[in-house]
Amino acid sequence: MKALFIHNLYKTYRNGVQALVDVSLAVEEGDFFALLGPNGAGKSTLIGIVCSLVNKTSGSVEVFGHSIDTELETAKAFIGVVPQETNFNQFESAFNIVVNQAGFYGMPRRQAMKQAQRYLEIMELWDKRDQISRSLSGGMKRRLMIARAMVHDPRLLILDEPTAGVDIEIRRSMWKFIRRINDEGTTIILTTHYLEEAESLCKKVAIIDRGRIVENTSVKELLATLDIETFVLDLRTPLDTLPELDGYEVTRVDATTLEAVLPKSRSLNGLFGALAASGIEVLSMRNKSNRLENVFLRLVDRS
Ligand code: ADP
Repeated sequence: MKALFIHNLYKTYRNGVQALVDVSLAVEEGDFFALLGPNGAGKSTLIGIVCSLVNKTSGSVEVFGHSIDTELETAKAFIGVVPQETNFNQFESAFNIVVNQAGFYGMPRRQAMKQAQRYLEIMELWDKRDQISRSLSGGMKRRLMIARAMVHDPRLLILDEPTAGVDIEIRRSMWKFIRRINDEGTTIILTTHYLEEAESLCKKVAIIDRGRIVENTSVKELLATLDIETFVLDLRTPLDTLPELDGYEVTRVDATTLEAVLPKSRSLNGLFGALAASGIEVLSMRNKSNRLENVFLRLVDRS
C-alpha cells in the first residue's frame, strides 16, 4: 500500500515561480522518508499541496489511495502534520491543546481525552499536562506538537524541519520519539536541512532541487554510490597559502586546517607524500563524518 503517491505534480505560483516541476514520488506504508533540499527547493510547497494548504497547478496526489481532488476529507484524515513553528495558544494547557485538536476531526470528547493521554504519555509529557504551553521548554513544545498531530491516529505523519534550531541534545531526544512513532507503524515523511538527521533516521530519501526531484532512493544505496571521501587534516604549523599539490583536491579551511577530497581508489600515502614534499606536517586527521552531505552537494550543483 502506498501511503503517498504523487504523479507529475506541477506548481507555478501567481508570480510565475515554478516551485514544482513534474514531481513524481511514492512513499510506501511504514517508510521513514526524508525530503531533502536547499532553501527554496520546493519542500514546503510539496508538503503544502499534500496537506491541501497550497493549490497545485496540475498533477495528482493520493494519500492511501484517496485522491486529494475527489476525496479530500478522507485523504486529510490520514495525515498528521507538525509544522515548523509552534502555533498553539500560549495560555492553554498541554492537555487541552491535544484534546481540542481532536475536535477538528469530530472525535467525541471522552475518546479525545483518552487519545490525548496516550500521546502525551508517549511523548513523556503526561506529568506536564496541566502546564500552559508557554511554560514548557523548547523541546517539550516540539513534542507537544507531535502529540497534537497524532491525536487522531494518522497513518502518515509529516514533520516539517522537526529539529530546526534546537540544540543537539534536544535533537537526539526528538529522534527517539519520532522513531517510536514509526516503530508503531506510522509512516513518516520529514523535511530537513540536517543531512545527518536523514542519514541516521530515515530509510528512504528524495532530494529536491529547484522544484525537481534529483534523487529518490534508499539512504543506504545513496551512500553506497559515494566514491569519494573527505578528510579533515590538522596541521602542526599555520599555513598562509596552500601550495599546489599535484593531482590532489585540497582546500585550506583555516591556517591550521585543510580538507582533502580523495577518490576511494587512491591511497592516502600519496597525499601524505605530496604534503610532506611541500613541507606540510599533519598532526591529526579525521574522516569528515557527514557522508550524505557529500552526496547532497554533488547532486545540488550550484555552479
Ligand atoms: P523550501 O520549502 O524547499 O524552502 P518553498 O516550497 O518554500 O521551498 O519555495 C519554492 C519556491 O517557490 C521558492 O522559489 C519560493 O520563493 C517560491 N514560493 C514559495 N511560496 C510562494 C508564494 N506563496 N508565492 C510565490 N512564490 C512562492
